[in-house]
Amino acid sequence: MLLKEKQMKNKKMRKIAAAAVLASVTSVTVAILAIVINFASDISDHNYVVAGRWIMERRYAMAKKNQLKEKKIVIRVDDVQQGYLNEVSRRMIVDAAEREMKLVLGVIPRNFSEDKEMVSFLKEYFGSVEIAVHGWKHSVDGNYNMPEFGEVDYVDAVRMLADAKREFSVFPEWKAYTFIPPQNEISREGRRALVDVGYRVLSSDGKARNDKTTSTYDWSARKLADPKAVAAECGKALEVRGICVIMTHPQDYATSHKFDAEKYISYIELLNQIELLDASVTTFAEIYGDGR
Ligand SMILES: [Zn+2]
Repeated sequence: MLLKEKQMKNKKMRKIAAAAVLASVTSVTVAILAIVINFASDISDHNYVVAGRWIMERRYAMAKKNQLKEKKIVIRVDDVQQGYLNEVSRRMIVDAAEREMKLVLGVIPRNFSEDKEMVSFLKEYFGSVEIAVHGWKHSVDGNYNMPEFGEVDYVDAVRMLADAKREFSVFPEWKAYTFIPPQNEISREGRRALVDVGYRVLSSDGKARNDKTTSTYDWSARKLADPKAVAAECGKALEVRGICVIMTHPQDYATSHKFDAEKYISYIELLNQIELLDASVTTFAEIYGDGR
């Protein structure tokens, strides 16, 4: 080998070595950054269910950053279901959509696909709502005091989530995203199943970010809450956390299983009140990504 050739070969080798060092320094930097971002995101927030990959955590951290720019209100309409009070549910969706407000519907999946009228209505309003999964049939057979997911084991949870997915396959664009446990209770194994099935958000009743902030029904007084007070509580949460979750039910605006126009005024008043707050009324899927 000529000396010149040898020199050139050495030069080439040095270049390759330099590139290798640069590559390993970059990957170490990326790894450190990932750890820093991981810690920066609120690790105590159990409600944001992620698969644990750092790219997801990073997206979450970025979404949280965006949230700080704008305050978000989520109206969670629980117990939307097949063949029950759907006139009320439809009114709630239409009246919100007219104000460019989106709703998160906590839909009870069992037999929902059989309600052709409600399915075609929701297809029409798909851009105005997020269809969240509210258990499977909401209660354990014969025991209405036992929350369906309260003590659920992993296998049963995965099976019920698969059944829910099958019901919602009538909506071609539907993806598992938000889970609302019936009676706001879910076991540790149930949470694990949610993560494995790909859910991103858990909204129940607690102190975590996506949990219910306030409710349109005052359970202790057994009557509708004052919409002004609900909006005020929501406004307070917006100042502190940048997000507020209002839980409501079609049943709140019904009497003897029928739409109650008088009670419904309270819902319209709530929409009017929250319109005055400096926040967008949106869905979890829209807050955290996927453009839904
Ligand atoms: Zn419920």
